[in-house]
Amino acid sequence: MEAVAEEDLPAERPVGGARAPRALRPPMSWGAGGGRRLWAGRRIRPGYRVLVSTTPEPAAHGSGPDPSPPGLATASPAAADGASPAAATAVAVCSLRLFDTATGTVRLLELRDPGRVGMYVCGPTVYDVPHLGHGRFSLVFDVLRRYLRFCGLQVRYVSNITDVDDKILDRAAREGRTPSEVAGEFEAVWWRAMDALGVGRPDETPHATAWVEAMVAMVADLVGRGVAYETDDGVYLDVEQVPGYGLLALQPLDSLRAGARVESSVEKRSPLDFALWKKVAVIPSGAAGAGGVLAGAPGVSGAAGDASAGVPGSAGAGGSEGAGAGAGAGELWWPSPWGPGRPGWHTECVVMSLGLLGDGFDLHGGGQDLRFPHHENERAQAVAAGRTFAQHWAHNGFVEVDGEKMSKSLGNFTSLTDLLAQADGRAYRLLVLRSHYRKPIEVNPATVADAEEGLARLDGIARRFPAAAAAGAAATTADRALAAGADPEAVAAFRMAMDDDLDTGGALAGVFELVRRANAAGDAGQEAEAERAAATVAALAGALGLALRATVDEVDAATAALVAQRDAARAAKDWARADAVRDELVARGWIVEDGPSGTAVRRKAPSR
Ligand SMILES: [Zn+2]
Repeated sequence: MEAVAEEDLPAERPVGGARAPRALRPPMSWGAGGGRRLWAGRRIRPGYRVLVSTTPEPAAHGSGPDPSPPGLATASPAAADGASPAAATAVAVCSLRLFDTATGTVRLLELRDPGRVGMYVCGPTVYDVPHLGHGRFSLVFDVLRRYLRFCGLQVRYVSNITDVDDKILDRAAREGRTPSEVAGEFEAVWWRAMDALGVGRPDETPHATAWVEAMVAMVADLVGRGVAYETDDGVYLDVEQVPGYGLLALQPLDSLRAGARVESSVEKRSPLDFALWKKVAVIPSGAAGAGGVLAGAPGVSGAAGDASAGVPGSAGAGGSEGAGAGAGAGELWWPSPWGPGRPGWHTECVVMSLGLLGDGFDLHGGGQDLRFPHHENERAQAVAAGRTFAQHWAHNGFVEVDGEKMSKSLGNFTSLTDLLAQADGRAYRLLVLRSHYRKPIEVNPATVADAEEGLARLDGIARRFPAAAAAGAAATTADRALAAGADPEAVAAFRMAMDDDLDTGGALAGVFELVRRANAAGDAGQEAEAERAAATVAALAGALGLALRATVDEVDAATAALVAQRDAARAAKDWARADAVRDELVARGWIVEDGPSGTAVRRKAPSR
């Protein structure tokens, strides 16, 4: 990529819908900002690198052979983004610097295909209700995805559903249900929680059980390369043969080996070796599956008809599992060259991410707890198979709940579902965004209530300046926000914060300063200034996934009386009385705001 002088950057360009004709767009180039300078309405920080590129012609997002597994449709990245390639933003700017766990540095998110981001985030294993940590990683990567789109990039976001796992099988066996019943129930719970959080659906949600054929093929390839070996209970990766093993664990192989738990019952070469394939020793009687998923698969033996893998046409309980998997209550298996079994968790994600996003995809993310062994072991398989894996690794921090406050009787939240039953999902988003994504966050009723008060201030903007807020909220990219009347300086400051390793706390501070400005300007009768600030608040909050709500909850007579009493107390400057009434309203489940027209109240929990 050729470097260009700062002067070569276009001084101005149309924004929003008024796009330059294709021929007039600047060629793809790198610019090094040598000083503070306005470019497209944005001030560029000294030393800031800005990628300027023309929209690439539509191209296959992944590389290599057709990544779709049989029977799975693969949406094109353009379709996934809801826009045709021709309508994509003319100039995509990716100046996001993000901490990369693999290098231990904050570095520019460099893209395989200019203007396009392929990201894979490990999704849930659906065996129980989601916990607060699930909510956090979903929000963090939802915000990252939204921000990349706000910058004009096309994002293809893939997040899996692990629907075959020991925990699912254990629960199914315990409850006398099939694994798919358990997985189906908790996947539905998962999506309800994501909807309540306002987390956008991934472009692709591969289910592990639909990818087993490709997983068997990868394990067979690793065995063929001599880097994986079969034992009595499965197939294992020989991690001693993987260059750089320990990269994401941030520990060398020696110290990992020293700290590993030795399982004497397993004939592994090294305690660090992990199962790519788990053999199922006993197929429950009457549960012989058709095993049709592998029928006719090239190079894979043990297909339907293999005596060890079930009797074709005798579906038994397996018939209810679909996808040709054999199953009985509490068991799930597929045929393979090593006999009936199922894939290991680490094998699922490496196969699905490479399968959908192709070699060298841009970013792999997940919670901090997945760094090792899960992500290390995903990466190890790709390396051992001679594939290029994720180019950037992002991990978010933990959710902390004070140990003794964990119990529900003390008023804390026992799960994400529990929190969402008591609070506005947007409040949890705001709580998460107030802290840096790599730092731990504390979630308890006090921090949630605090976030709800902040949310009320944001919603107040939508009520007071509905037209400006609606215009700002409709802008899904920075260019459109500017076209909708957003303040260029504020948008630039927002982007500078977000580009600095997703400093959402800094970005939010700017948004709340705009809230103050909008209200102050409105109070002073400066309508244009107020509307500009309000439009900017809505646009930037929207970029973070916070949709402002102007609707006012129905207020019952008793509450209305308290509101009137509080207004009277404030008018009489009886602050003690005003505070007492405020506390009474809060105790009744209302969020209380002070507006120019008096006390306003909003329900704490969303109406459902
Ligand atoms: Zn994963």
